[in-house]
Amino acid sequence: MSYKLFIPGPTQVSDKSYKAMTTPVFGHRSKDFVALYNSIQPGIQKLFGTTDPVYISTSSAWGVMEGSLRNVVSKRVLNLMCGAFSDKWFNVSKRCGKEATALQFEWGQPVDPDKLRKELQTNEFDAVTLVHNETSTGVMNPLKEIMTVINEFPEVISIVDTVSSYSAVPIEKDDLGIDVVLTGTQKALALPPGLSLLSVNKKALKRAESLSDRGYYFDYHEFDANHEKGMTPSTPNIPLMFGLKSKLEDIETEGFERRFKRHECLNQKVHTWVEKNGFELFPDKEFAAKSLTCVKNNREIDIPELIKRLKERHNCVIDGGYGKIKGKTFRISNMGDETEETIDTLLSQLDTIVNELK
Ligand SMILES: *Cc1c(COP(=O)(O)O)cnc(C)c1O
Repeated sequence: MSYKLFIPGPTQVSDKSYKAMTTPVFGHRSKDFVALYNSIQPGIQKLFGTTDPVYISTSSAWGVMEGSLRNVVSKRVLNLMCGAFSDKWFNVSKRCGKEATALQFEWGQPVDPDKLRKELQTNEFDAVTLVHNETSTGVMNPLKEIMTVINEFPEVISIVDTVSSYSAVPIEKDDLGIDVVLTGTQKALALPPGLSLLSVNKKALKRAESLSDRGYYFDYHEFDANHEKGMTPSTPNIPLMFGLKSKLEDIETEGFERRFKRHECLNQKVHTWVEKNGFELFPDKEFAAKSLTCVKNNREIDIPELIKRLKERHNCVIDGGYGKIKGKTFRISNMGDETEETIDTLLSQLDTIVNELK
């Protein structure tokens, strides 16, 4: 059975991407591999807004999220928390044996740069984790304002998760002074899960050198030494790399600006639907994500039933809320390859079902 996915990850994968992934594999130390690796670089660098290398990790995003803690946290990490993914990063920091402090904001609220500055002024920290787009609550954090604060503290290394914003909105790693940025393939890139992308500046590489317990699989210096040769440290998911190459060609063809604009327009359509149907956004509109919408269930409809009917009648899947806001919210993705047509169709199906359920 196959469904049309409107959940905020994994997102719907196109036939073109699947087809690209059936290209027969070759050895990961071959010339063909080096050509494949090098052909992917410019596109993934451009999407991160960086001239630093972008490493390709065969793992989901959590691999490099955990790995980054092990590469850069020497003294203490400050985890900026405002939803399920950012909250979990604090937990993962402690599981890695790191000294960690939680700076918690209410779910649905963004990170407050002034509170961040206050914490950093204690000089206890040498790293900060931030989730740019908190997929669980539909909040897009004010990246520029937050980076401005972090950059007032030269000792602090910033680790930024752009898992559900990468390629949906511009990410300006170099201009904003982000030290470490990462994403995964199964959200806004609309590829199957299995690869994560990681870009690290010289400052973060230098920090890593000073840490002796960074392991092997996610070691920045393993990635970097292999990158120089157009390779990855261990055998990567080559089919997904073919998928990524194909996707980057699609993005180039569409044009970066047009892609960002498309996501914004589709997201706006969902917002309009939310208002028209007497629902509210879970976050403040000003901080709402552009790649998905987290809707507050203020009408108290039966969300499992909504999801069931949508699936049974139309083969479409939306999400019924994540973590502690399951049932109190539902989420609709407009990531990846969605078009006016696919979003309009979904919203009209939802119209009918929501009105049956009131
Ligand atoms: C999905 C998601 C993750 C986790 O990604 P995995 O691929 O499951 O490791 C991390 N951060 C954000 C913001 C996400 O949306």
